[in-house]
Amino acid sequence: MELSIPAHIELILNKLKKNGYKAYIVGGSVRDMLIGKSPSDYDIATDALPDQISQLFKEFKTIEVGKKFGTVVVVQREGNTEVTTFRQDGEYIDGRRPERVFFSKELKDDLSRRDFTINSMAYSKEAGLIDYFHGVEDLKKDIIRTVGNPKDRFGEDYLRIIRAIRFATQLDFVIEPKTYEACKKFSKFLKNISEERIQEEFFKILLSKKPSIGIDLLMDIGALEVFMPEITDTLGFDQRSPYHDKDVYRHTLCVLDNTPSVLHLRLAALFHDIEKPHTLTVDEEGMGHFYNHDKLGAETARKILKRLKTSNELIGKVSLLVENHMNRHDDLKEKGLKRLLNKMGEVEIFTLLELQKADKLCSKVGAVIDELIQREKDIKSIIENREPYCTNHLAVNGDDLIEIGYNQGKIIGDILKYLLKIVVDNPELNEKETLIEITTKKFIR
Ligand code: ATP
Ligand code: MG
Repeated sequence: MELSIPAHIELILNKLKKNGYKAYIVGGSVRDMLIGKSPSDYDIATDALPDQISQLFKEFKTIEVGKKFGTVVVVQREGNTEVTTFRQDGEYIDGRRPERVFFSKELKDDLSRRDFTINSMAYSKEAGLIDYFHGVEDLKKDIIRTVGNPKDRFGEDYLRIIRAIRFATQLDFVIEPKTYEACKKFSKFLKNISEERIQEEFFKILLSKKPSIGIDLLMDIGALEVFMPEITDTLGFDQRSPYHDKDVYRHTLCVLDNTPSVLHLRLAALFHDIEKPHTLTVDEEGMGHFYNHDKLGAETARKILKRLKTSNELIGKVSLLVENHMNRHDDLKEKGLKRLLNKMGEVEIFTLLELQKADKLCSKVGAVIDELIQREKDIKSIIENREPYCTNHLAVNGDDLIEIGYNQGKIIGDILKYLLKIVVDNPELNEKETLIEITTKKFIR
């Protein structure tokens, strides 16, 4: 079998081989090539030691990312490639990464420490495909299976439990029964894994084509209970509403699957109704209401994301979406849309609409989103027509006001806010002279 390798990768492999070293493409890139997916990056394994790799590629820019772990990144115009010395992991302490690694001369050592059979193959032009653990067979049967005994392998590094689910979700594969049994048995030990490592795999699940597969598996094995217990209250939570035909959990999964694969949007989808189970009131007709679940949900989203150690920027974007997801029920006229645009900005307003469309579509069979599509058009036309909707769009700014004699400070903000109110209703008044006239009549200098 011959796999096609890009020229810049071929160059790295050849350089190693010409100098007497072994060199193979390994891991996820081999898996991806075999399923006909072009790998996002290529990983190369070799028996050359890190210093030898650096020396060999000294005319390239190299980054020694994890010298202790044997990895040198070779930087080329086409991309970065990790070149890693064959490794044999040392003792694992507490089910986390090994304390230290040992370099090896043998490819087989390196492949046997890898997590799943489909991730443990190697390829080179001369040797062809090297598949000690029957990865091809599992790839053909759509199976995720650990290399070796799953209990031992998860015991070495519990993150592999989430990785199993990540690959099952991305590839739409099933987890082999013994491997799955071990996922269930050991999920409680995920508490020993750093939030950063969990976050990385969890986000890959969220960004998959169908994230509901992964969330369902994480729920089933008890992993959500460990690192995101807030979600588990939504499971089976009846909304007591004629507008909903799914419980909060099923509805959430549906929204996830129906939003574009954008991280902050998917996170907002996951959290948008997270506070429904804690805000239910039932009226005389027996109908459920969830006052304030949007605001409280935004708070909970912040709390969870903080715990997962995500960036403040991401936290801000997600909570803004969660907090505003309910205004699709408001009958917003042009003024209201401008206010919303001012609050969300010209990018996030459309992200919010994506969330709202999916939210509506997933409420009940036959739900229509015509109103939201119309709203999207109306907002686009406000933007295209350059109609003023925020103080930056006013024909006067703070400096202009100071120049005509107003004092720096709170009054400037008050004036701009006042002018914006007028201009939102009457865009034709947005001219410098007119606005100054309005200002001097109303505010004392
Ligand atoms: P992706 O395409 O998403 O990057 P990948 O398979 O390349 O998928 P990585 O997380 O980049 O996944 O890891 C590269 C390879 O390193 C894996 O294919 C696997 O062989 C090995 N590996 C990564 N993490 C672990 C781990 N925790 N335990 C064992 N092997 C691992
Ligand atoms: Mg990778």
